[in-house]
Amino acid sequence: MNEPSSEEVRVVEHLVVGDGITALAFVENCALKPGDALVVLGGQASELGRGVAYGKGDPGTAWRYAYLLNSPADDIDPAFARWLSDRWSTVEETMTGRAPNWMNAAKPLVAAGDIFGVNAPREFYGDFMREQAEATVDGLRRRGVQVAFVDDRATGLDVTADGVRVSTQIGQKIHARSVDVAPGGPSTLRIDGDDGRFSAPTVFGQEERIAEQIKAGAEIFCIGGNAAMLDVLRLCQSLIPDAQLRFVACAPDGEIPEPLIPRLPRKLTAPRFSAGHETAESFLAEVWREIELAKRAGDEMREIRAGFRAHFLAHPLTQYVADEQQARRIPAKLRFWLRGGTRDTILDMRRLVAADQVRVMPGLVTAIEHLSDGARVRIADAVGGETVHETGFVVNCAGAGPGSRYDPLTENMLSQGLIQICDISRGLKVGDNCRAGTPAIRYLSPATIVIGSEVMAMPLYDAHVLRTYASRASLPSVTKRVQP
Ligand SMILES: Cc1cc2nc3c(=O)[nH]c(=O)nc-3n(C[C@H](O)[C@H](O)[C@H](O)COP(=O)(O)OP(=O)(O)OC[C@H]3O[C@@H](n4cnc5c(N)ncnc54)[C@H](O)[C@@H]3O)c2cc1C
Repeated sequence: MNEPSSEEVRVVEHLVVGDGITALAFVENCALKPGDALVVLGGQASELGRGVAYGKGDPGTAWRYAYLLNSPADDIDPAFARWLSDRWSTVEETMTGRAPNWMNAAKPLVAAGDIFGVNAPREFYGDFMREQAEATVDGLRRRGVQVAFVDDRATGLDVTADGVRVSTQIGQKIHARSVDVAPGGPSTLRIDGDDGRFSAPTVFGQEERIAEQIKAGAEIFCIGGNAAMLDVLRLCQSLIPDAQLRFVACAPDGEIPEPLIPRLPRKLTAPRFSAGHETAESFLAEVWREIELAKRAGDEMREIRAGFRAHFLAHPLTQYVADEQQARRIPAKLRFWLRGGTRDTILDMRRLVAADQVRVMPGLVTAIEHLSDGARVRIADAVGGETVHETGFVVNCAGAGPGSRYDPLTENMLSQGLIQICDISRGLKVGDNCRAGTPAIRYLSPATIVIGSEVMAMPLYDAHVLRTYASRASLPSVTKRVQP
């Protein structure tokens, strides 16, 4: 608890660590007075609002605008859907003539007057968030708050008598009376041999290298069946005609997620649960019954997923399952049962599976070996056997898993016990209002699974839910349980 010396330490009222949509939500909700100083500290702090998912693509690359939001625009944010609709002629100009043919996929929705339902390119959501960020910062500056953006990464922090002192990668020190930390989720699980001549440890930032292989006609083998795998398919489609594609997705369940297809008028499934469940199994049986009931009533996965999400934002899981240990066993199953993704890509994928150009394989990739002209993938099956598959190029889209690492600040906070890892879900646990050990620090990331006494029913890898929890953390507790 040493006091910082003023010569070497920048002193501010409030510090926000991170530059994504959660960091922006913290900035939007901060209560600063005229004369206070705010610093936003992030890898690209001046691009506050984009984070890792909604970055600006490189002009001239075929895959710019290829990666799409995983749900309809108004499920992410109705204000974003309106923004998109207001700029439709610019959107059309940007997207016409691109491969894959996004305009064509949007056509049925546009014809039905449902621009709000399209899966927009993620970069557009980033553009929208940038406008929100600029308006927020302008408002703060008009109120006399000094706002500064620092492009750097926090590596550790110390709690002092009157706030928090944060150290950065390039040796800066910032002392703030309060700090909000929004550093995003953990790294992708690494797999033996995933960074070699015929493999990439992730798709993002590796596109040039993967593109060479796609254009040369190599089979592309994706580890994982999640949203990043769908991005790799879009990357392939941006470079070669569908008829030339050779693509394999390997995931433990061997299934493609359901497409989230919007319909007019919009509907949300309204699940009904009883209170007093003593075990996770008992509550999950009720959830399953409600999902089946909704399907029999003709609800689509978009309606079911968005309906359950809205329900759990208004009714915490512990309302139904009081035992926190039992409640923590629920989100993983719900995530799987309510899995859904980008309409455009999943419909394309189904078509390509039917045409035998895309294969979905069940199994767990354990290692990648490099041959003279491609890679050999070792795959464990559910009953302890192993198969091998020879392929052109492997992309690791496995997502987080055992052995994943967090950013240095999160690791530092974990080592100090300011936040904890849950033994059951491996997600992160923070206190009420996202407090991290002391009232001076709040922490929120997609990996957060417990906030105070509330267990997240559906994981926070969802822009709408994350921003809702970030703004709730700033509300007085009596007003929290508002309908979303
Ligand atoms: C590729 C991808 C696509 C996604 N698509 C969707 C989607 O379509 N719809 C949806 O609802 N959700 C989607 N998600 C889920 C996503 O996690 C959230 O929507 C959202 O982007 C998370 O925002 P965030 O601000 O919490 O974290 P991030 O966007 O990860 O931002 C955190 C930022 O903080 C910076 N940072 C990290 N550590 C430090 C540090 N120590 N010091 C300073 N800066 C630091 C990082 O560089 C990063 O830019 C997607 C996620 C990814 C990764």
